[in-house]
Amino acid sequence: MSETFDWQEKIYPKKVKGKFRTIKWVLTSVFLAIYFMLPWIKIDGRQAVLFDVPDRKFYIFNIVFWPQDLFYLAILMLFLAMALFFFTAVAGRLWCGYACPQTVFTDLFIAIERCIEGDRHERMALDHAPWTMKKIFEKIIKHSVWLALSFAVSFTFVAYFVPPQELGWRIANGNLTAAHAFWLFLFIATIYSFCGFFKELICLVPCPYGRFQSALCDQDTLIIGYDVKRGEPRGHVKKGEGTTGAHGDCVDCSLCVHVCPTGIDIRNGLQYECIGCADCIDACNSVMKRVGKQEGLIRYGSLNIFNGGSTHVLRPRVVLYAFILVVLMAGLLYKVTMRTPLEIDVIRNRHALYQKTADGKILNIYTIKALNMDNKDHSFMVKVDGIPAKLMIGNNPIQVKKGEVYQTTVSLAIDEKATTKKVSHFAFIIEDVDNPKIKARRESTFLAPVMGFKEEVIWKQKNRSGPRQ
Ligand code: SF4
Ligand code: SF4
Repeated sequence: MSETFDWQEKIYPKKVKGKFRTIKWVLTSVFLAIYFMLPWIKIDGRQAVLFDVPDRKFYIFNIVFWPQDLFYLAILMLFLAMALFFFTAVAGRLWCGYACPQTVFTDLFIAIERCIEGDRHERMALDHAPWTMKKIFEKIIKHSVWLALSFAVSFTFVAYFVPPQELGWRIANGNLTAAHAFWLFLFIATIYSFCGFFKELICLVPCPYGRFQSALCDQDTLIIGYDVKRGEPRGHVKKGEGTTGAHGDCVDCSLCVHVCPTGIDIRNGLQYECIGCADCIDACNSVMKRVGKQEGLIRYGSLNIFNGGSTHVLRPRVVLYAFILVVLMAGLLYKVTMRTPLEIDVIRNRHALYQKTADGKILNIYTIKALNMDNKDHSFMVKVDGIPAKLMIGNNPIQVKKGEVYQTTVSLAIDEKATTKKVSHFAFIIEDVDNPKIKARRESTFLAPVMGFKEEVIWKQKNRSGPRQ
């Protein structure tokens, strides 16, 4: 890969029209519509997607994720990382060119700049012209619109963490908390500077993806490339002149360079600065159409194809990434569908291991905490599994409101003569009254004084099957 980027030079990408530009604008519209609308959508009166950090609950449509569900987040992160490996190996920088937020928002910022200051040559002329009222006015308008867009993007981002109605009300009444204000201004500053000033530099310098993508790509990866065999030797052609035959198809118009948002010349070969935006394809196709040549001098292909060979989609690394992706996806789906929105915690009474009652019973006391992680109230029946103990509890079933923890103290009683072990293992089970599939189990122990030898012999005589294990 050749290094051609000039860090000092300001880039003025020229407007381009074509098939890939249209696809990009359609995708941008879809992504922006989802991004801006999602925080306003409600399900059962609550925000459909809300990351409620103070209450440590994440609402994703009908599912509520609690800190106990961090496992899902870990699997999701692993899945996304593997998906990035997979798509990069297959399709190169498709993510950068079409879906990365930096690309999407920078495209918007450049479109605004173009609307106000004009296309490439007008912008260059304006920047080099002395400061006049017209220039000051255009610059003020541009930066005001950029700031307004940065505010909208930032407001929406924070609205994924604080309901937008509340956030709007706080802004309108000057009642922002320090945290709200910090995040709002941080994101306004980030969007404004990243998309208005640094633009492509963000892709080229701090973003690690562009750097390590070369390790993920190979000769069969989809890239955007210039067909050297067809294009060279390049040569200028006047309008209506056609090509003489002495030249290749490239008419050396430099349009592919002028539309490039990173300012590189794709004809110099594959470069890490290429973010795969496909603007140069549209630009070159428009030129080829004008000079009566076949489109596709710059096109999607693989290094193998540009070198005259063919592409193999199924390569070992692609198959391996795909296999891991499928396994992770299946595991995640299985865990999410089998997920029980119920957690139970059992704490033994620490003050007394056991109590003896006057009527010959051994008592153990526990505190049960039931966490209803669902978005509706539930009635749960508390049961004991593993020992023949009598459960003594205030209310059974217990009523646990959505998103709440219900705490209750329970006692287990076993006839002293029936206790043959110092420690008996058993489990508390709580089960939804209406849906037995929603249940949780927590292992615990029942402690008892060990029987004396005499008592054990008597107990054995009474219970012919011998002492329980
Ligand atoms: S070389 Fe082409 S695809 Fe790559 S960034 Fe420039 S215009 Fe986009
Ligand atoms: S746009 Fe096409 S014809 Fe013009 S310089 Fe680039 S590759 Fe050559």
